Amino acid sequence: MKVLDLRCTHGHGFEGWFASSEDFETQLASGLVECPVCGDTAIVKLLSAPRLNLGNARAPKEAAAVAPVAAASNVPADPSPEARWMRAVREVLAKTEDVGERFADEARKMHYGETPERGIRGQATPEQTEALLDEGIPVMALPIPAALKETLQ
Ligand SMILES: [Zn+2]
Repeated sequence: MKVLDLRCTHGHGFEGWFASSEDFETQLASGLVECPVCGDTAIVKLLSAPRLNLGNARAPKEAAAVAPVAAASNVPADPSPEARWMRAVREVLAKTEDVGERFADEARKMHYGETPERGIRGQATPEQTEALLDEGIPVMALPIPAALKETLQ
């Protein structure tokens, strides 16, 4: 099963589930892939990229309530939860571009195809995060352990 980020010519973003990329191409060519909002069949596939909201100065406790998605499978046998978390965060940091306070803008631009899809991280207020989620833009809050933050700066 493949989950693809799709977008119609009117800029509606949605997810499509397909057996494979080929399955998607076949359905697309036959006009079977439609925008659930406007029924447009001119659909483009966006590259999947994680959009992460790292840290949240205004509401660190709320941000900390979100579970990590980056936890890797090749984690050593039995590290402490903290060590695992640090490792997951490091991995995310290595794979994403820091856009700082432009996070909400960048995530939105990517979602609407104005800039290339890539992994980004940055700061967003709870209001910004909520607005992004309302627009169907997948973001997640990811608190960075204080110890790791210090080594980054
Ligand atoms: Zn549409």
